[in-house]
Amino acid sequence: MHVPLLDLQAQYQSIRTEIDAAVSDVFASQAFIGGPTVEACEAAVAAYCGCTYGIGMSSGTDALLAALMAEGMGPGDEVITTPYTFFATAGSIHRLGATPVFVDIDPATFTIDPARIEPAVTERTRAIMPVHLYGRTAEMEPIAAIAARHGLSTIEDACQAIGAEDGGRRAGAMGDYGCFSFYPSKNLPAAGDAGMITTADPDRAHRLRILRNHGMNSKYTHSMIGGNFRLDALQAAVIQVKLPHLDAWTEARQDNAARYAQLFEEHGLVSDPVVLPRIDAADDGERHVVNQYVIRVPRRDDLRDHLRAHDVGCEVYYSIPLHLQECFRDLGYRKGDFPASEEAAHETLAIPIYPELSNDAAAYVVATIAAFYRG
Ligand SMILES: *Cc1c(COP(=O)(O)O)cnc(C)c1O
Repeated sequence: MHVPLLDLQAQYQSIRTEIDAAVSDVFASQAFIGGPTVEACEAAVAAYCGCTYGIGMSSGTDALLAALMAEGMGPGDEVITTPYTFFATAGSIHRLGATPVFVDIDPATFTIDPARIEPAVTERTRAIMPVHLYGRTAEMEPIAAIAARHGLSTIEDACQAIGAEDGGRRAGAMGDYGCFSFYPSKNLPAAGDAGMITTADPDRAHRLRILRNHGMNSKYTHSMIGGNFRLDALQAAVIQVKLPHLDAWTEARQDNAARYAQLFEEHGLVSDPVVLPRIDAADDGERHVVNQYVIRVPRRDDLRDHLRAHDVGCEVYYSIPLHLQECFRDLGYRKGDFPASEEAAHETLAIPIYPELSNDAAAYVVATIAAFYRG
């Protein structure tokens, strides 16, 4: 049996006529940059996130960058974030000449540990950038309280978490900015690179619209130095077709997670050797959207090789935490500085969780893992 990590073909076939019609409409209009398709997509995503404004961006990375630019971040400024995340989180901070200040994660959730944030605040700290990793929101209540106490802005890296909730509020509606990615491996995939920023603040929304278009406020009049961070109409059309399906896909991911939990239990693997991700029930006011299903296991690299040899797709996300990346050597961190992040980088493995994953495929994945530890 072949089980891929992600099956975009299955998704496309289920909505092919809708997608093809929407793409064909954009070609018929020949309006590729801006216009009603982009605006409709922005409004739809903002409404879905429970936020006032949506500003289309060329990628999740550019969304993070533009949010930091809109806050005027530059040399001498510090932004607190986690080292256990995709590169773009800290890369966007460093690119502007600002300093990423890392804080370790809570090992139970893989998100920034709020208790460690305040000791990292200095007089140079300007913002906190929590990451809603793998589809689970960071603990935004204590983070917002720290931000308020110290006058910091909050930029949610919500790239993996569209539709995730904490205390009944959605990712992207809890901080000053919510940054989203529609990269094909995310829960709401475009047909290539695309992103979005949500904000409730009209001034920030205005600055972002200018920044994404070279800082131009009217033709050839530049009030700021921006870039080309625009979302194009073809991507906007695809996102808009897919958005009404997102809740059903998210529920399918959650059902798959529940099935995995049951299968791992049946095979007697739970806790030892396999630690399952914590995916809380909706009645806690939390909604984990399961962008990745990440288990913690001993002999992780050997298990990865075993799964691949048996045709099961799997992936090690973030095998080197950001504080140990060569390009961030100038920040002066060392091995051992963030033990929870380093342990997660060493022990975790993502297994297939895409919405169309069949019961048989999930059973095969768990049986293959069971065989590895029995063998
Ligand atoms: C995907 C991702 C990004 C970057 O998004 P792109 O659209 O690929 O540029 C940033 N942060 C996190 C946590 C991500 O998962």
